[in-house]
Amino acid sequence: MSDGEGLEYLQVGAELPYYAYQKRLKSEKIPYYESWVGEEELALVMEVIRDNWISEGPKTREFERRLAEFCGVRHCLALCNATAGLIIGQKAIGLGPGDEVIAPAFTFIASVNSIVLAGATPVLVDVDARTLTIDPEAVEKAITPRTKAILPVHIYGHAADMDRLCEIARKRRLFIVEDSAQALGVEFKGKRAGSFGDVSVLSFFPDKAITLGEGGVVMTSSDELQRKLLMWKNDGRLERGMYLHDLVCYNFRTTDLQTAVGLGQLKRLPEILAGKRRNLELYRKHLSGVKGVEFPSEDPRCHIVPHRSNIYVDDPQALSDHLAQYGVGCRRFYYPVNRQPCYNVSGSFPNTENAYEKGLSLPSAPTLSEDKIAFVAEKIKEFNRNRR
Ligand SMILES: *Cc1c(COP(=O)(O)O)cnc(C)c1O
Repeated sequence: MSDGEGLEYLQVGAELPYYAYQKRLKSEKIPYYESWVGEEELALVMEVIRDNWISEGPKTREFERRLAEFCGVRHCLALCNATAGLIIGQKAIGLGPGDEVIAPAFTFIASVNSIVLAGATPVLVDVDARTLTIDPEAVEKAITPRTKAILPVHIYGHAADMDRLCEIARKRRLFIVEDSAQALGVEFKGKRAGSFGDVSVLSFFPDKAITLGEGGVVMTSSDELQRKLLMWKNDGRLERGMYLHDLVCYNFRTTDLQTAVGLGQLKRLPEILAGKRRNLELYRKHLSGVKGVEFPSEDPRCHIVPHRSNIYVDDPQALSDHLAQYGVGCRRFYYPVNRQPCYNVSGSFPNTENAYEKGLSLPSAPTLSEDKIAFVAEKIKEFNRNRR
């Protein structure tokens, strides 16, 4: 829908749409994203298979311990994905029918879906024009007697203004559900993303900083919330292996097969984070002074880990089509949640709309070479020349 990809499969007859889409991704010479897995992960997965403990076990506990330490939180619970974490995070703090949660209109849709799936009501607000994170002033204006929580998203690895948001939450007695799905390693004033919220999540989908194929965690520093979260992920009990259930809950567990991959990924994390920052610097270097190409600005209070190398241009679709001819994979920005068929919210979200109209994510794999970045930059310049 956002870039005409959806219709592609109609022309390929018997092929399933998703399969056709994957095939095109495989044919990209410089893919939009590529996860970085290898021998390290393979060896750890083999250990799990040899030990014959496939479901959650020692690997998962170690993975949780390492992430809690990295993010500076007391508790970390591994899950099947981050959406599950957002849902049970809101369940654990007691949200439900009649409660409003304020969330940004510019985000990946799971942030907002989780509010509905937890039984509460999303209230969308616009984002800051420069950082694309939830606008604290818009949050304040949207607060009603039913508001229970704010759901900031550190979108594209830029931290939301946690000073202002935490202050608003404290004054108005609101919870913070922190969507750090794209923000492993990001900091705001020296404090790690994921450590600000009453609950927070990380995602490990293949295009996130580290991947387990699918996976996520929910984190908290509250012992009480940790117990509730355990119940919510674990069929309403604190431990597997017993059949007494206090609550009706989900099975949102993961497996040691996956968290073994996660332990391998954590060894690579410093290199992955450095690679993401280097990519953006190289794009800036190779595209400096190019008319009509702008880079997003950065709040100096943040340590940013670019989830994507992003630029703003006049016609991101035309540029993306141009680059696709050379096997360069790009992505448009998120389609505004307010405009999604499943929400279709009225209201004014100019910064969200503008981000969608102008934004383009360039190839962003942490393993990209400077040669490839220079090639992409060259093709962007070529596009500009052709249009004049
Ligand atoms: C990826 C992502 C999610 C969902 O994570 P899953 O692990 O795919 O469920 C939620 N919010 C944001 C901002 C994301 O990027």
